[in-house]
Amino acid sequence: MKGFIFDIKHFAIHDGPGIRVNVFLKGCPLHCLWCHNPEGVSFKPELMLMPNRCARCGDCIRACRYGALSQKAEGLVVADREKCVLCGDCVMACSRQAIEIAGREWSVEEVVAEVEKDRIFFEQSGGGVTLTGGEPMAQPQFVESLLEAFRQRGLHTALDTSGYGPEEILLRLTDMADLILFDLKIMDDKKHKEYTGVSNRFILSNLKALDNLGKPVWIRWPLIPGVNDDEANLASMVDFLLGLKSVQMINVLPYHKGGVEKFRRLGREKEFAIFDPPDPEKVDKAVDYFKKKGFKVKRGG
Ligand code: SF4
Ligand code: SF4
Repeated sequence: MKGFIFDIKHFAIHDGPGIRVNVFLKGCPLHCLWCHNPEGVSFKPELMLMPNRCARCGDCIRACRYGALSQKAEGLVVADREKCVLCGDCVMACSRQAIEIAGREWSVEEVVAEVEKDRIFFEQSGGGVTLTGGEPMAQPQFVESLLEAFRQRGLHTALDTSGYGPEEILLRLTDMADLILFDLKIMDDKKHKEYTGVSNRFILSNLKALDNLGKPVWIRWPLIPGVNDDEANLASMVDFLLGLKSVQMINVLPYHKGGVEKFRRLGREKEFAIFDPPDPEKVDKAVDYFKKKGFKVKRGG
């Protein structure tokens, strides 16, 4: 059993309890304009160019047999992505790690071996492994196999999901995980479509269905100034969440510009948008709002 992964991060502390290993599944049916991990959106591998590491030596251009790379006047390497076949020769030729291909196949055994390296930290911190993305539900069989393998090894598992997918798959996977991190972005359906590309109808009905399983759920709310921090959205979220019994906590995740450089590396800056990060007072206000309604709240994950 193999799946498509774009990153595995050790010593993660924002995506579930304790010290964790985050496994990032590649491919997501949503297209949030503020995405922090844009290399996780496409279901295909992608070439990433890092100009800040590049020595302008041209080795990558000479290595490419497909004429997909060239240099601008100032020496900056640019890619013709139509011509690129993702052979990886330029990656091998670059001594500065200034080119990467985001996303490759991993077997369940490979992922487990990578995660197991940090077992001692899990035991000391109450941590474990978080399957995130991208959208884990988009690779259901692979994720099911991973969850089963981690369960057999007694590792704590968290599943981080947008909630967008068939209810049957959501319930099957969440039932195998110890903790569910569930993203809730915008309550108004029209606005949700405008900013994420999909309706929130299935997301909300899936969250209700998940609630009946009785698994602990942490709601992940990205605070995007001017998009979803208005009183109407917060009130609607609170109304909805007060009707559920499994929500243990709301994580308020202030927008940051961490994804912007990645849009550029992927040559996809036109597909995403740049927002202003919220000032601390705005974050405090949102945190207080949820707290006053009786929720346990944490800034960050
Ligand atoms: S081989 Fe690497 S350092 Fe040299 S031009 Fe290409 S990307 Fe830049
Ligand atoms: S991955 Fe292969 S085809 Fe694509 S730019 Fe690099 S060398 Fe050329």
